[in-house]
Amino acid sequence: MNVTDVINPANGAVFTTVPSLGLEETDAAIERARTAFGEWRRVAPGDRARLLRRFAAVVEDHLEELALLEVRNAGHTIGNARWEAGNVRDVLNYYAGAPERLSGRQIPVPGGLDVTFHEPLGVVGIIVPWNFPMPIAGWGFVPALAAGNTVVLKPAELTPLTAIRLAELALEAGLPENVFQVLPGKGSVVGQRFVTHPAVRKVCFTGSTTVGKSIMAGCADQVKRVTLELGGKSANIVFADADLSAAAAAAPGAVFDNAGQDCCARSRLLVEASVFDRFLALFQENVAKFRTSDPTSEESDMGPLISAGQRATVAGYVGGADVAFQGTAPSGDGFWFPPTVLLARSADDPHWREEIFGPVVSVLPFRDEAEAIRLANDTEYGLSGSIWTRDVGRALRVSRSVETGALSVNSNSSVRYWTPFGGMKQSGLGRELGPDALLSFTDVKNVFISMGE
Ligand code: NAD
Repeated sequence: MNVTDVINPANGAVFTTVPSLGLEETDAAIERARTAFGEWRRVAPGDRARLLRRFAAVVEDHLEELALLEVRNAGHTIGNARWEAGNVRDVLNYYAGAPERLSGRQIPVPGGLDVTFHEPLGVVGIIVPWNFPMPIAGWGFVPALAAGNTVVLKPAELTPLTAIRLAELALEAGLPENVFQVLPGKGSVVGQRFVTHPAVRKVCFTGSTTVGKSIMAGCADQVKRVTLELGGKSANIVFADADLSAAAAAAPGAVFDNAGQDCCARSRLLVEASVFDRFLALFQENVAKFRTSDPTSEESDMGPLISAGQRATVAGYVGGADVAFQGTAPSGDGFWFPPTVLLARSADDPHWREEIFGPVVSVLPFRDEAEAIRLANDTEYGLSGSIWTRDVGRALRVSRSVETGALSVNSNSSVRYWTPFGGMKQSGLGRELGPDALLSFTDVKNVFISMGE
């Protein structure tokens, strides 16, 4: 069997290998998932709920182990990695409430009784990127399982370890064999097979917009259901009337968290011209305090990038650009890059327009509300974003005008498992998390029962 090296990005060293599945092994796993679906969908809702709650408890018992695994495999800071493992637990607990509440409707019709059912789809294929291996896996597999589907999940080649461990923990919690399988391997082999195999009834893909488009086109062939969570180039809009200290204190985390490898990174910073210099001075103070260091350290705010290739891509955007200021980063082994603030010359600069997926933010001044909205929307992406202002009316007007799926006012956080998450325009299709996600793993069936006569 082929194997893939797993590298610690903080020192560049290979520390383990995992199998890389071929086509035959993928097909065999999908067949097992198809067989398991027959039984899993018939597990009584209360029992399915209990199993998901038990799975959450087992994740809680292994929280530190999962977090440390992610620090080593993805270079995430230990603080972030603990949040990520905790997010899987929370999402399991949240959707554990779903099987017992997955009600259809009774619709008044003449001549009989009409009821609807939310039927599970069958086998769901989930394809995960390397930037948030645990939460993104959970946002897919948890509601899919809660709705009665079985799951095959392909982690990213670079970061397979926590997903593999979660599948083991599912068995430990008592989930039946083959209800949740993790299949490490290449996107072009395992991931592509999810698209082409007729037994896989839905694909949930998180990753780049380019690959997402090819997945969507491939799924069209079988009218396969698809959810896409793709790239982003989100705007952080700071108005002159905002609490500038609070906005500047939050701005480094808004783009440098997870070393900027975050689809929600606010990588375009729009600042009202009248406070541009004052805001930048405050921002500089806060960037200087942002600690890029060994991710196992409790004090670390930011670890390394995921790979040498990613670091080279990021560096390519900085060379030749106007650097306003940079933070610091360790030297030596590992894929380190310092937090970097660039001044955009115009909205045509590649670093202003393209998703860099690294610790780089581009800054541009704007004159008034209308220009801020126009600049924020001048992109094919539309995933997240922030608005900083004390004017409630403006907060509402701008929120309604910015074309993006997950906005925050006077905050930079995008993800809460209770609320829908996903992108507008080319940032995605469909929504994960919150009350809506569950139904996207079902199809409505309408049944009419005649009264006779
Ligand atoms: P990627 O598109 O290269 O890969 C994502 C996953 O798809 C990996 O598991 C990969 O193996 C698989 N894959 C690659 N080619 C495939 C194919 N032809 N068929 C099926 N599967 C295939 O993306 P990446 O580099 O791993 O992740 C970074 C990108 O993900 C960024 O653009 C980022 O914005 C995006 N992202 C989006 C969200 C979101 O929620 N919107 C979240 C995280 C990351």
